[in-house]
Amino acid sequence: MTAHSNIYPTKALQEIDAAHHWHPFSDMKSLNEEGSRIVTSADGVWISDSDGKKILDGMAGLWCVQVGHGRKEIADAVNRQMNELAYYNTFFKTTHPPAIALSEKLAKLAPDHINTVFYCSSGSEANDTVFRMVRTYWDKMCKPDKKVIIGRWNGYHGSTLAGTSLGGMKAMHAQGDLPVSGVHHIDQPYWFGEGQDMSPEEFGVLAARKLEEAIDEIGEDKIAAFIAEPIQGAGGVIIPPATYWPEMRRILEERDILFVSDEVICGFGRLGEWFGSTHFGVKPDLMPIAKGLTSGYLPMGGVLVSDRVADGLMNSGDDFNHGYTYSGHPVCATAALANLEIIEREGLVDRVKNDIGPYLQERWLRLGDHPLVGEARMTGLMGALELVPDKTDLKKTFPDTGTVGTICRDISFQNSMVMRAVRDSMIISPPLVLSHEEADFLVKSAEKTLNDTFQTLKKDGWL
Ligand code: PMP
Repeated sequence: MTAHSNIYPTKALQEIDAAHHWHPFSDMKSLNEEGSRIVTSADGVWISDSDGKKILDGMAGLWCVQVGHGRKEIADAVNRQMNELAYYNTFFKTTHPPAIALSEKLAKLAPDHINTVFYCSSGSEANDTVFRMVRTYWDKMCKPDKKVIIGRWNGYHGSTLAGTSLGGMKAMHAQGDLPVSGVHHIDQPYWFGEGQDMSPEEFGVLAARKLEEAIDEIGEDKIAAFIAEPIQGAGGVIIPPATYWPEMRRILEERDILFVSDEVICGFGRLGEWFGSTHFGVKPDLMPIAKGLTSGYLPMGGVLVSDRVADGLMNSGDDFNHGYTYSGHPVCATAALANLEIIEREGLVDRVKNDIGPYLQERWLRLGDHPLVGEARMTGLMGALELVPDKTDLKKTFPDTGTVGTICRDISFQNSMVMRAVRDSMIISPPLVLSHEEADFLVKSAEKTLNDTFQTLKKDGWL
């Protein structure tokens, strides 16, 4: 079969796409007027579009391509597995070698108290699994009143009913009458956006104590779990002040509620440890995973389950009435194994901690001096630049939030680099294989984009 990209010019492809393809999280009317960018191939940290333009993938796809694009060894492993056993389920007393090998591998990589994995196909499904798992756990513990799950405003946990509900995106809640009942949200630890009246240290402690206040208000005997991303990704790479997770840890150790660390973005090396919660020294009971598990080569997610929860649920003598046709899919599990093998062999987790992480951080933070940037921040390989209209008053924001971010994002594409805009902050999360030269390109391109954006905003009367 011939790929459409080989026979149709860009414009024709865009027209077919506009006629039939509904994109996620998109205003389709304006997208179809403008026309989608068509990505046709990728290699390493570079993607190529249908006009032959090469662009540095500063977002690793959607925060997921840890090992870079075009890894033949993953494709080959997947091909072999396709020919051997393309599909079988893991229901009804059945398993298969890829699911067995991946489960053993994940138990080894996870912290010592976590030795079990439940599979699904995405981060959203992982959080739907979490939702049912935590409530069922407390039922089995003879505490059926413990039902409430606490999440955070501006947290992201997926776009299914449970994922949207656990997340704190108001624009998502508004579509579909969500959250579902029994979910409560506390404030996020977003110092630049919400805490500038005090020091980051003070703000971090206060933000963590919102959990304690919510537990006291609702009642510990009614709360099943607290869910959080170690660093909020889709919310805008919100890196909590240094005091936040230590205070959270104190609270979580004192209270009898489960802690769910959503590792969908922060897992698999993004912060220089296998899991983001390890970076921050907190001990989760459950860890939803996806994205970097396969580097996006095939869809796969899961929930890593602590011995405490696994013992409570698995030894109860009942079925856990939950699962998916593709739970533990043999080809996806094979892709995950090949991907983890690369991460280990090439020492990518350590590389983020001790080599490319510090290298890029140092250069990225210098962009904080630019007249358009109110704050530059980065941990591991997750970074953000807060765009502001007035560097002498960092509380001032641009009118019509998101418009300036979108202008800057489009300019970044022209400058051959994918940066994503969240509100008016620009964010990056590049593949873990980024070389020093590519990091230099990334920072140079970001700097040019800031300069070009500054000129455009001046010309158009924003500044
Ligand atoms: N949790 C987090 C922290 C995420 O960032 C995402 C996706 N961006 C999800 C869950 C949902 O994952 P998916 O899109 O694979 O359903």
